[in-house]
Amino acid sequence: MGNNILEIENLTVSFDGFKAINNLNFSMEAGELRTIIGPNGAGKTTFLDIITGKTQPTEGRVYFQGRSLLGQSEHKVARLGIGRKFQTPRVYLNLTVRENLDLACNRSKSVLKTFFSKPSSSDKRNVAGLLETIGLFPKAELKAALLSHGEKQRLEIGMLVAQSPDLLLVDEPVAGLTDEETENVGSLLIALAESHSIIVIEHDMEFVRQIARKVTVLHQGSVLCEGTMDEVQNDPRVIEVYLGSEEV
Ligand code: ADP
Ligand code: MG
Repeated sequence: MGNNILEIENLTVSFDGFKAINNLNFSMEAGELRTIIGPNGAGKTTFLDIITGKTQPTEGRVYFQGRSLLGQSEHKVARLGIGRKFQTPRVYLNLTVRENLDLACNRSKSVLKTFFSKPSSSDKRNVAGLLETIGLFPKAELKAALLSHGEKQRLEIGMLVAQSPDLLLVDEPVAGLTDEETENVGSLLIALAESHSIIVIEHDMEFVRQIARKVTVLHQGSVLCEGTMDEVQNDPRVIEVYLGSEEV
């Protein structure tokens, strides 16, 4: 298993006999920024659902840092160090950007305590650093409701990072964003990749080109191929799978 943060063997997930994931094998080293692409229905979201404990596989094994995740609840998986960013931002709209991050930094403490006790100086440093990282320092005191969609995405990524996960799972973070916001989210993920292992699921090929290191292509619930963006784009199997559905 070596230095692999994630190791998945012979994974199959059947929904009433339909195999959304079909004998899938996947591994990833600690510190990687991995992009997973594939046409609609390829099994990308189901793949994340299994890692996070939302769905249990029909067959196969999943190891995180050498430890089996099978049978673990979503809550337990999160506590083991896997953070997931869903497609739509889940931030508290009536709280300021800073309050959202304070809350995320204090997830383990109670909500009441977070608001009625002064943040410690190390919490303050963390939040200031996070505001800087996600590029929202100038908007720290604004209610999250006033942020653009892209800023909300960055805030939610910041809230995930506040919980210090070892592995970050990010599902289609730039869907519906402007070009400029897309680039900002890309830069943020690249910056975070210096200190985290990250899996990004994505459709937007422009964006994949911006962030891609190693790319895994899923098709019909299995890995079709892996490589650099150039390698997978020129792979005849990938071209065939994408033909008629969308551009690579
Ligand atoms: P992707 O994210 O790559 O678009 P999904 O993982 O969402 O693909 O879905 C893969 C396939 O599994 C699709 O054909 C989808 O309709 C099917 N599927 C996903 N979840 C369920 C479910 N809970 N019950 C039945 N079929 C499902
Ligand atoms: Mg999906």
